[in-house]
Formats: sequence, C-alpha cells, structure tokens
Amino acid sequence: MENKTVNILGFDFLNSSFNDFMENTKQRIDKRENTFVVTANPEIVVHALNDQKYTDTIKKSDYLVADGIGIVMGANILGSDMSERITGYDILLDLLSWGNQNHKSAYFLGAKPEVIADLKKIIPQKYPDLTVSGYHDGYFTDSDEIAAEIKQNQPDMVFVALGFPKQEYFIEKYRHVNDGLWIGLGGSFDVLSG
Ligand code: UDP
Repeated sequence: MENKTVNILGFDFLNSSFNDFMENTKQRIDKRENTFVVTANPEIVVHALNDQKYTDTIKKSDYLVADGIGIVMGANILGSDMSERITGYDILLDLLSWGNQNHKSAYFLGAKPEVIADLKKIIPQKYPDLTVSGYHDGYFTDSDEIAAEIKQNQPDMVFVALGFPKQEYFIEKYRHVNDGLWIGLGGSFDVLSG
C-alpha cells in the first residue's frame, strides 16, 4: 500500500482504498508488527483540536483512517482524491472473517457487560476458528489487570471499543505489551451484538 496521506486540520489521514488498507493491515498482523489504528470521524477531530493531549495520542497512531463521510468530503474539498470511508465496523467485520479463515486470535475489550455477554455467544458461532484470547467489558477500574491478560495471551488483534478518547488512551498506554494490531472501534461491539 502506498502510504499516501491528506492533511486535514493538522491530522494526516490515510488516503487509501478500504481493500488496500485491509491487505496492508493483514500483512502487518502476519508479521506481528505493533500497529495502532485510529478510526476518526469529524467529532474526534473536533475533540482533538480542543485537547492537546488527545492530539498527541492520535499523532502516535500508525494509521489514522477516515471513519466518517465528513472526513472524506473535507479531504475532497482540499483537493484530495480520497474516495471512500474506512470504517471501524467494516474493519472489524473483515478482520473477524479473515481471522476465522486464518486461525488468528483476538481480544475484545469494551462495551457494556450485556453486549460482551452477547458477543460471547455470537463470536464462536459465526467465527468458530477464531481464537478468542479474552473478553472484557468497558467498565473496569483496573486497566493494568486487562493489559496483563493481553500480555499473557499475545493476541494477533486487540479490538478496543471504549469510545473515544478512552480507547486511544488505553492503546497508547498499553500497546507495548503485545506486538499485534490495536484498534479503537467506538460503538462497533454494540452494532455487532445487534
Ligand atoms: N464505553 C465503554 N466504556 C466506557 C464508555 C463507553 O466501554 O467507559 C463503550 C460504550 O458502551 C459503547 C462505546 O464505548 O459501546 C462508545 O460508543 P459510541 O458510539 O458512543 O462511541 P464513538 O463511536 O462515538 O466513539
């Protein structure tokens, strides 16, 4: 994948097709490259513009992708040929099915306990060959304990659905414990659980 970006209000968004981004991401997972992906909508950018700490965190990501159509439109106004959104939910679905086909492992962190309870039923049914390294809801007090579980299990992918900015702060703090994919997915578990 060509690492083409477009700068929107100071943030370098990846300008790639969904398919190229996914192919590149899967190669990185196969190589166990430590990877931090931020899936951003305009709300996230506005929040970051008013919060230097969050800006610094986002800028440490390896890929900042346009989750919202507003980002694609903004990019086009600036003269970029960015053509499509790369949403967290689409990334999640694609990685679950690829992970299932290729016997990868994943850790699911975030959302309400009842949503996690649903995922515990749905994931093994739909993706029986995906190894689940662990599940944890997003309402915890001891984040170190969760990081220790991730460290112990070394999943290929860590799906973090705590909403922004929490999910990005969590990833920034703990990504060093596991060389895999770390991605913030907002409300994606809620959607997945139906
Ligand atoms: N959430 C969480 N822990 C928290 C706050 C939120 O796990 O302390 C979850 C919440 O249950 C929901 C998701 O994070 O599943 C946030 O979804 P939302 O659509 O509000 O976030 P966005 O996509 O705007 O980041």
